This record gives sequence, C-alpha cells and structure tokens, in this order.
Amino acid sequence: MLTLSSMSMTFQTDVKFLPLVGEKRAAVLKKELKISNVGDLLQYFPFRHSELFYTLESLKKYNFSRSDDKMPLVQLQGIIFGVQSQYERTTAIFQDSTGTIPLVWFNMRDNSWLCNINPNETQILFGEVSIFNGKMQIVSPFFREISRYKLHNIKSKFQAIYHATAELYKQFSQKNFQYEFSRIVAAACYEALPNCAETLPEYIISENNLLSLKKTYGNIHFSQSEELLKKAIFRIKFEEIFYNQINILRQRVNRKEKNSGFIFENSDNFVKNFYKNCLPFTLTNAQIRVLREIRNDFISGKQMNRLLQGDVGSGKTIVALISALIAIDNNYQACIMAPTEVLARQHFTSISKLTQNLGINVRLLIGATKKKEREEIHNLLKDGTLHILIGTHALIEDIVVFQNLGFAVIDEQHRFGVAQRAKLYSKNIQPPHVLAMSATPIPRTLAMTLYGDLDVSVIDELPPNRKPVFTRHFFDSKRLEVNKIIVSEIEKGHQIYVVYPLIQESEKLDLKNLENGYNIMCETFPMYKIAYLHGKMKSDQKDEIMAKFKSGETQILLSTTVIEVGVDVPNASVMLIESAQRFGLSQLHQLRGRVGRGAEQSFCILMSKQELMAKTASRLDIITQTNDGFKIAEADLTLRGPGMLEGTTQSGTPFDFQLTNIANIDDQKLLQNVRDCVNKILDEDTKLEQPKNALILKKLEEINKIMVDWGAIS
Ligand code: ADP
Ligand code: MG
Repeated sequence: MLTLSSMSMTFQTDVKFLPLVGEKRAAVLKKELKISNVGDLLQYFPFRHSELFYTLESLKKYNFSRSDDKMPLVQLQGIIFGVQSQYERTTAIFQDSTGTIPLVWFNMRDNSWLCNINPNETQILFGEVSIFNGKMQIVSPFFREISRYKLHNIKSKFQAIYHATAELYKQFSQKNFQYEFSRIVAAACYEALPNCAETLPEYIISENNLLSLKKTYGNIHFSQSEELLKKAIFRIKFEEIFYNQINILRQRVNRKEKNSGFIFENSDNFVKNFYKNCLPFTLTNAQIRVLREIRNDFISGKQMNRLLQGDVGSGKTIVALISALIAIDNNYQACIMAPTEVLARQHFTSISKLTQNLGINVRLLIGATKKKEREEIHNLLKDGTLHILIGTHALIEDIVVFQNLGFAVIDEQHRFGVAQRAKLYSKNIQPPHVLAMSATPIPRTLAMTLYGDLDVSVIDELPPNRKPVFTRHFFDSKRLEVNKIIVSEIEKGHQIYVVYPLIQESEKLDLKNLENGYNIMCETFPMYKIAYLHGKMKSDQKDEIMAKFKSGETQILLSTTVIEVGVDVPNASVMLIESAQRFGLSQLHQLRGRVGRGAEQSFCILMSKQELMAKTASRLDIITQTNDGFKIAEADLTLRGPGMLEGTTQSGTPFDFQLTNIANIDDQKLLQNVRDCVNKILDEDTKLEQPKNALILKKLEEINKIMVDWGAIS
C-alpha cells in the first residue's frame, strides 16, 4: 500500500491515501458523507462521545428511568456467549468482571458472525444501555476483539461516535464501523494536523479563550479530558456561528452600501387624508412603531429590506397600505404580491374599500384576469396612473412593467422562492423598497441565522377587544360532543370551518379526508348548507365557494389547508381540524387564526385519533395552552428542529451547522455573543481590509464559492 510521509499530507490530500481506506472506501465516504479529502474527514465531527470503559457494576448508579435524559453510551470489556435466535430476535449475554447483561438484536438476517465469536476472547463492547421490563439491556451493540482493538494504539478518554449510513455499514460492517472510522481519523490527525492552518485570527482566538484549531480537531475526535472535549466543541460551534453571522451581516452591510434607496419624504397628501378620513380604527402601538421603522427606512437613502412578522390577525395589511400611500405621495407606484388568488382578491377587496374615497387607482392582477383587463392594467401601469397593483405572482411576469415602482410588499413571503423575490427587485432600475410580511412567527435565533440580512419588525400586539380563541383537543370518539358545539354555534348565526389533511382516502395514511368528511357532514347536518374547497379546484369555482361562505350563504365550509393563509370571514367562529396530529404546530396556529376575527368568542377544535405518540400529544397540548405565535414557534423549534419549521424551507438556506443546535438555549446564548463579536469586527472594519482580518476574508471567499449568494437577493 502506498504510504505518504507526514510532510506531504495536508487537508487537501485525498482520503484514499489514508491507511484502511483505499479507492473503494474512499468512493463510499465521498458518496455517503461528502468526505473527499483529509480536511473533510477531520471536519466530520462525532455527534456523541462515550467515556471509555465502564464496568457493569458502575452502571448501577445511573438513574436509567429518567427518560428525558440520554442514556450513556458505554464501553465495556468482557466476553460474549450464549447466542440464541428466536423469530426476529437474537440475544446473547455479555459478562465482565462485575456482572452480566443481556444483549439484544432485532431483525438480524444473518447471525453467523455472532455465533462465530470465540466465547473465550475478550471483547470491547460498545452500546447504549436501556431498560426493558425493569432490567438493563443493550440493544444492537457492536464490539471487537481486544487483541485487534489494541492495535489501534489510540489514546483517548472517550470513544467518538459518528453518524453512519447503511452503505457505510456495508462497507465497514456495522460491528466495526465506529472503531475503524476512528482509526482512519487517527491516521488523518497524525498525518495532517501538524500542517493544519488556523481559520480564525489570533486575536479572536485569544479574546474568546478558544482552543487552537489543531487542538480542537485533536480533541473533538480523541479528547484527553472532559474539559478539553468541551472546549473543542465550544470552538467548533463558535466558528460555525462566526462564519454564518459574519457572512450574513457583511452582506447586509454591503447591500446597504450598494443599493441606495428612493427617498420618500412627503406624506402630506394621501397619507394625511387617509389618517384623517379613512382609517377605520386606532392603530395599535405595535403598528405605530413598525410604521415609524418603515418611515425611517424610507428617508434613509438606503433601500429597505424589511421583514414584518406579526401573528395572524395582528393587522399587517394596514401597515402595508399606509406604507404604500407614502410611496404614492412621493409619486411612486406600489405593489402587493400574495401567494394565492383567494388572498390577493381579499387584499384587493379590503384595500379598495379602505381607499375608496381617496382617489387612488387600485387594481387586481391574477391568473384569472381576462386578457382585455390585463392589457388595460399593463397600460395604466406604464403610464403611471395605476397606483397600487395587487396580485399573485402574475405581477412579476416580464410583461408587467411599472412606470416607477417604489415599494413592493410580499405577503406570506416564505411562500415565494428566492427567484420570485429577486424578480420583484428588478421591476425598477433602482430596486424598490421591499416589505416582506409573515404570519409565521420565526423564533428570534432562527431569524438571526436565516434572515440575518433583513431588518426585522414585529407586531407583537393584537388589535383591542379580541377574544382569544378557545382551543380544545377531542378524540374522535367524542364526536357527538363536538357536533353539539357546531349546532349551537350555527344556531347563533355563526359559521364553521372544517379542515382535513387529505382530499381523498389514502391507503397508506390513516387520516380523515375531505371526500368522506363531506358525506358524513351532509348526513349529520342535513339542515345546514355545506360546501367544500380544495386546491385542485378551478380558481373561479374556488372563488365562488369562498364568496358564498363570506356572504353567509354557506354555513359549514370543508376544506384542505387552502384556506390557511389570510382568509378573513369574521362571522366564522369555529375552526375544526380533523386528524390534527397530522399538522405542524405553526400550521395549526395559522389555521386557528382563521377564526376569532369578530367580536364573539370563537373555538378551535382539534380532533385526533385516540392513540397518539407522547410527542404528538404534547404538541397538541401546546396549541391548547397558548395563543402566542412566538411561543408556539419556539416550541416547534425545540420539538421538531430547525429544518422542519415552516417558513424556513426555502432552498439555499445555510443550515450548515454540524454541532450548533439553535433550539438549544446555551447555543442561543452563544449565537448572541458571537453575533455581538461579529458586529464589533464589522463596525471597526466594514470591508475586512485590516491585516488582522485577512484570514476572515479568505475563509469567507472560500465559503461563498460553494454557497449560492442567496442572502443578497432574499
Ligand atoms: P394580518 O396581520 O393577519 O394580515 P389583517 O391585516 O388582515 O391581519 O387584520 C386583521 C383584522 O384586524 C382586519 O379585519 C383589520 O381590519 C383589523 N385590524 C387591523 N388593525 C386593527 C386595529 N388597530 N384595530 C382594530 N382592528 C384592526
Ligand atoms: Mg394578512
């Protein structure tokens, strides 16, 4: 085998040259873990560490009944014997100098490797202890002979545990993967760490009391002490966050520097008139504050890129409208883009009504707009007599040309892709001010890592006199009780929404569906008018059904989640969600926001089957306990992790943290600290031109070569 001297191995050296790798394994490592070179390998961090060598006796002190705690990963030294297979279950016994413990494997197709174990040879066993019927056992441990283990000559207080895949297990065998992988990493450390170049400037390292990169890699894989392991993990998290934040915040600085913004100083005409004669209510303090933030952007000379977060019903529309009127007062046009026709139409209706005595020209452009009207709109836009254009993505088509677009609103912004948003920017030679609105509150930490380059405004106050929606969870067996609520609400003259996760019955999913639900509802409530709505229907058909519900002609509206966004029917007082276990927390919260828009008490009823997993049940509990969208979003983040959150699924999102978990409180604190540190650097040296920051600039260039520059166009 080809061996290279340590002098010639660097982070760039292909992993195939490492001992125990070779061409075949190198190919698998690349395909499965994206590890091509030695640097990639060293940066593939273990996700857990097990302290070396326990005795069975010493395990007794652990309180294994605490289910919220992760069981310790243990390494034990002893012998394995008594292999038995029954059905899908294989068992054996492990014995060390202090006792015995059963081992269990499920669904093992071939147990010959187990049967071939020499019961006299000492093994190093590795696994997670669990409790079954009150007794300790270890499920699917792996192990290897001590004679071979000793060959590794790895000195570490811990065994690092790496995520593996089925393919990797095939290549390395499940039994050996962790140990063999460790040996490869050990070789990489030995060969390449001496040549490892620092990736953070010296002053940052010393100011923050960080380990050197060399020590960090050494200790994350093979730590000498718990303290060093902690410091290694800390440095890695610090660096992950550091480059994420400096990248985002620098782009924000650059963008502000690059994109000058239209200056809207005038508000004497339409704005003044609107406040005086048209505003139907007093603005909440939160609305006033946000409008002030927007006004400041409008006179700053820099292009505004602001995210407006506010719970469903918090009154974002009026903020968007008043901002648009400011643009119009300064002889610019404005547009509002919504993700669905229903929502665009609703904006059009309410804004037309609010501005009817103002003498401005508001039009609606959606897919269903007829050709003749479309052409008329195009012309009015071009000659500047159309003031506010409201629509779906139809309004970013190339054929739509504004005379002078100064302000663009994107409602439910996460529904749009990056490219669609970028198109809005190009609707004027100088990009318009942009207000992106979202009713999906995003936890602050997530906003900092996701939208760090946007300025964020929050409406954290609902208009007065809103009664919080009363939310209850019922099992399907309590349907009669639920039907009573429906009847009593309809008899009061109110209307009901019922939402289903599926349109039709599915063989694979045990969930309620709209088709079947419609039949049942018609049978149960023959005296009421019932209609249904789903995303596959033609848009004029949908509009007709929606219009009938709005006018009160229909009493019960069954639908899929198409009604999720923005629909406003103040007379609807019940939101019944079937198979609620199927929906995410934020989605449930959004659906609930469809009711409680009028002055009367409203109800949200979550239906589910009886058998729920504990996690699902606690999810539904949260919804019944709070109406605060931010709290719900935080809970969603903790329960499902950042990748699953609504509003975060846009492509190109830099979720490149390996160890940092922004759902974790300590990591959130670290994020804030690192962000402060980054802000300080950028305040002092915006362009990162000082020699002491040269290293940062170099690393950023490397990062951005790989990552699409989505931040600049979000
Ligand atoms: P969202 O933030 O979900 O888009 P909307 O802008 O649709 O909320 O507002 C929800 C409802 O609250 C609308 O009927 C709107 O007219 C009303 N509203 C908004 N602001 C106020 C306010 N300050 N006082 C009273 N009602 C308000
Ligand atoms: Mg809205």
